[in-house]
Amino acid sequence: MLGKRLKNIRLETGYHTTNGFTDRTETITRDVWILAGKVQKLLDPADSLPGAEIIDGQGALLVPQLREMHCHFDKSKLGVPWYPIETAENITERFNKEFAYLEKLPQSFASRMKNLIDLELGHGVTSFRSHIDIHPKVGQRYLEQAQAVLADYQGKLDYELVAFPQHGLLLSKAYAEMKKALQNGATIVGGVDPLSLDQDLDRSLGQTFDLAVEFDAPIDIHIHERGDAARETFQKILALTQAAGWQNKVTVSHAYGLRDLDPGERAELFPQLAANGITIISSVPLDFHIPPLMELRDAGVNVFLGCDNIYDCWSPFGDGDIMTKLNRFAEIFQQTSQIDLTEALDLVTDTPVIDPEGWLKPEMPASFTLVDASSTAEFVARQKPVQASYLRGQRVL
Ligand SMILES: [Zn+2]
Repeated sequence: MLGKRLKNIRLETGYHTTNGFTDRTETITRDVWILAGKVQKLLDPADSLPGAEIIDGQGALLVPQLREMHCHFDKSKLGVPWYPIETAENITERFNKEFAYLEKLPQSFASRMKNLIDLELGHGVTSFRSHIDIHPKVGQRYLEQAQAVLADYQGKLDYELVAFPQHGLLLSKAYAEMKKALQNGATIVGGVDPLSLDQDLDRSLGQTFDLAVEFDAPIDIHIHERGDAARETFQKILALTQAAGWQNKVTVSHAYGLRDLDPGERAELFPQLAANGITIISSVPLDFHIPPLMELRDAGVNVFLGCDNIYDCWSPFGDGDIMTKLNRFAEIFQQTSQIDLTEALDLVTDTPVIDPEGWLKPEMPASFTLVDASSTAEFVARQKPVQASYLRGQRVL
């Protein structure tokens, strides 16, 4: 058997312009030859390939693998009969109530997590980054339960697990459990609000970077700090990134405080974030906390999106569709042109789609998404349906 031939798919090769106005993209129709989970070659429809299994792509637009870059497998309430979020005065009260609530639920961890994964897979995502709570009260339990569920999804999704000290690295004395989690299969060091939660910027961030260096792991830290707390925190993160040589390995999730910087401060900080490969991940909040994501992109900072809370103890909302978040991003930041909407897809794929020969290249993993849309811009703006998703040559959706 000579692998698979996914026939009749379209790839965008450039922009079409009429009288100076970009009104659509140009596309080519190709077949994808898939062998051993990788792209062997893009074939012309007339090329012969005897013996390959034929799959009809029905003229779908081929876009890269969709990525969910910020979710919480362990916090899902999906499958739990409707229950609103409880009131909480602050984040500490919120996570204490959350822990008590989750521990008492009759629905199992596995079923709630599977409902979350299935919801997102149903929308075409095949790559997940999930934070998993690590603190002395829960120990390694949530991590182990998440790993057991992930074993059932082998071949259906890629994943990364972030050891996340939700209750405060210092506040909950989570350092030893964080070490264990990184020994036990978590591959990214998480963190949360070193100033407002841990009350000690230097020690909290210092320990976060110590863990990262010890385990040669990237960092993805939730920073909700605002104003001066954010200014201080970002400067410290920059300094530690440079001191540890951790360029291209540090992500800040949420980063609300970047909106509090004045234009001069932004002009100074954002290029430094870009130069040090510090990534920003946003859940595109609607409550006026959203950082200036387009200014960051324009300064060369990598920005990605995540659904984050989807019916959990933090939010009753969320449809689990990363394309809803991207659509919201485009609307908030008025990315309305054919080109802007096309480039926006990078926020959930990390792979530009416009390429004169087609973005999909030989030797790439055969992980991609088939969409019923004339162009990427239409997919993003109109939230056109995902028809199929493939992970390393196997159909998932
Ligand atoms: Zn989160």
